[in-house]
Amino acid sequence: MKTQIQRLLDEIESEYKYTSRMTGKHTLDPKVKAAISSIPRDKFVPKSHIDSAFHNAPLPIGHGQTISQPYIVAIMTDLLELEADDVVLEIGTGSGYQAAILSQLCRQVYSIEYVPALADMAKARFEKLGYDNIKTKTGNGYDGWPDHAPYDGIIVTAAAKQIPGPLIEQLKPGGRMVIPVGKPYFHQELTLVRKNEDGELDIRDILGVAFVPFQEEQ
Ligand code: SAH
Repeated sequence: MKTQIQRLLDEIESEYKYTSRMTGKHTLDPKVKAAISSIPRDKFVPKSHIDSAFHNAPLPIGHGQTISQPYIVAIMTDLLELEADDVVLEIGTGSGYQAAILSQLCRQVYSIEYVPALADMAKARFEKLGYDNIKTKTGNGYDGWPDHAPYDGIIVTAAAKQIPGPLIEQLKPGGRMVIPVGKPYFHQELTLVRKNEDGELDIRDILGVAFVPFQEEQ
């Protein structure tokens, strides 16, 4: 009999097939698949939603925020094309689930969360579950985290009206950023930004998505 996580991975794979014309990704990268298999999503959702923890759906995590749909976590992670030695910045720690997945695929994850209560909860989870290559801070991710820049990968998990300039600056030449850009809640384009070795940007719309808003006021 299939485990819950195997069923979830099957659903992600089938959604990859439906969306492959847009994303250019036909199957889940085996490394991303292994990372998803290794992270217990039930440890990142509120007790009230534990029965849905392995459904391919977003879930509320309190404070008006959500843990993203696993397919979206998978495709965003996949688009970053991480190498084992990479350093990644995440904006929007939320439950910590996305950061935990990233922590399996790169050397170091830095993650910023705007809502202090969520940041504290995620930090406690990382400590409890032993993800010791994730460093968190509370604050507005608009400015990025210059102390550890530049980053091989940047992932923004809230809907931004535009791509924040400081994040572009903090992306390493050769690096990749994945960010939903557009109107909050309803429709944004998941956008892939690649910075080439000369610092030029290649910006590509990948897929329509629906994220909670990115706090932009300073
Ligand atoms: N990656 C998360 C998804 C959380 S939803 C997960 O795996 O669970 C998006 C999160 O972004 C919310 O927790 C929200 O509070 C946070 N957020 C929104 N704007 C932000 C900003 N400007 N800086 C940091 N965090 C922000």
